[in-house]
Amino acid sequence: MIRTKEIMVGIQFFGAAQSVTGSRFFITVNGQRLLIDCGLFQGRRKLKQRNWEPFPVPPDSLDAVVLTHAHIDHTGYLPRLVKEGFRGPIYCTPATADLLSLLLPDSGHLQERDAFYANKKKYSRHDPALPLYTEQEARQVLKHLQPVIYHEPKALTEELDFEYLHAGHILGSAMIRLHYTDSGGRKILFFSGDLGRSAQPLIKDPETIEKADYLLLESTYGGRTHQQVDVRAYLEELVQQTLEAGGSLIIPAFAVGRSQRVLYFLRELEEAGRIPVLPVYLDSPMAVRAVSMYCDNLDEHDFEMSQLMAKACPLESGSIHLVQSVEESKALNEVKSPCVIVSASGNLAGGRILHHLKSRLSDSRNTVLFVGYQPQGSLGRLISEGRKEVKIHGARVPVRARIATLDALSAHADSGELLEWVGHLKEPPRKIFLVHGELESQQALKAQLEQVISSEIVIPDFLDEFQLE
Ligand SMILES: [Zn+2]
Repeated sequence: MIRTKEIMVGIQFFGAAQSVTGSRFFITVNGQRLLIDCGLFQGRRKLKQRNWEPFPVPPDSLDAVVLTHAHIDHTGYLPRLVKEGFRGPIYCTPATADLLSLLLPDSGHLQERDAFYANKKKYSRHDPALPLYTEQEARQVLKHLQPVIYHEPKALTEELDFEYLHAGHILGSAMIRLHYTDSGGRKILFFSGDLGRSAQPLIKDPETIEKADYLLLESTYGGRTHQQVDVRAYLEELVQQTLEAGGSLIIPAFAVGRSQRVLYFLRELEEAGRIPVLPVYLDSPMAVRAVSMYCDNLDEHDFEMSQLMAKACPLESGSIHLVQSVEESKALNEVKSPCVIVSASGNLAGGRILHHLKSRLSDSRNTVLFVGYQPQGSLGRLISEGRKEVKIHGARVPVRARIATLDALSAHADSGELLEWVGHLKEPPRKIFLVHGELESQQALKAQLEQVISSEIVIPDFLDEFQLE
C-alpha cells in the first residue's frame, strides 16, 4: 500500500513542564498514541490539584505507556490511568517492574492513609477526603507491566520502536531512545528520564549518546552544582558531631535509591573504622524490600558492587537493622542512645519518617540530614530552608534539631554534568526540550546550553504542544 498521508509526529507536555514532578509526555506518531512516564504531581497544592483533574486525553485512547524508572513522580499516576480505562501495555525494565510491585501499592496505601488521617483530624478542605486511588487499585497496574531489557529494541509499530539505555539514577532506571520514521527518514526522539551521576556506588553509570533529533533533557539541578564535598568525609563528621552531642541522625530518604546509597556509605565508613559501629535502622518496609532487589539484580551492579557481593551484600550486613513492622518502628521512639534512622519518604510527603520527625525534630541534640531534592512547598523544603516550626499530621512541631543538606548524594546530574552529557552529542539536536525542573533552574540551564550547543532550547509549559518535523 502506498502511503500518501504525511506522517505526523507530535509531543504534548502533560507534566514535568516547569515543574519537577508529574512526568508525563504524550507522543503521537501517525495516530499511534504513546505516553512516556505517568507520574504523580507532588509538592505545592496547586500542582497536586492536577492529579485530580481529568487526564488531558481519554486514558483508553492511549496505545501504550513507556516508563523510564520506578519513582512515583514518573509512575504514580498509573493506577488512576488504569482506573479510568487505560488497558494497554506498560513497558519498563525488569528491575523497574520489580520496584513497581512495591512502590505502586505503597503509594495507594499512602493515599488511603493520608485520606484517613485527614478525615480523622479534619484538616482537609474536602469532606470526606478521598484517596486518589487505593492500594488495591494500584495492584491492578502490575498486570499491565511488560519488561523490556536494556539495549533490546522493542517494536511498537512498523515505524516506531524504542530501546532502553542505562540512566544511572536508581535501580532499573533507563533513558529511552525512540525511533520513528517520517518522510525525512529515521529519526530519534530521546528521553533522558532522570539522569544519574557517574562514579556513584551500586549501579552502572549513565550511558552517553551521540545522536538525537529531538531531546527531552531533565533539568532538576539546572544552574546548580552539587557540593564538591567528599561524601564519606562529610558523613563521617556529621555522625561524629551528632554522637558527641548525644543525639541521633535522622535521614529522610526515598525508599528506592537514596536509602541504599546512604546504607552503602555508612557501612563503608564503619568497615574503614572511620565511624563507630552504631545501630543503623532502615525504617521503611519498602526500602527494606528494595534493598533485597538491589542486592539481587546482579546485572545492574557496577564493578565495585559486584566485587563486594562476592562476600555479602553490603546493604544488609553489619550494624544495619532492617525494620519491617509498625511495632518495631514505634519501638524506635524509645531508642534514646545515639543511632542512625533512615526512613522514607525523602521529601516528607508521607511515610514513617513523619513520625520520627514528630518525635525527634524538637530535640537540639539530633541532626536531620536531607540527601535529596526538596520540591517547592514541600515540608522538606520548609525545614531545610530554616522554618522554626512546622506542621506534621496537623500538629505544630518546633524545629530545634540541626538541619544539614548533602546534595552530593543526589541521584541527579548537576548542571556541569548535564552539560558534559550533552557534550557527547556529535551533532546538535533540532530542539532540546528542558523538562523535570523548576523554571529558574531551566532558565539557568538554557543559558548555559546556549553557550555550548546551537540547538533551539525550549522550556515547554504545562500542556504545550509541538509538531516534530
Ligand atoms: Zn527519579
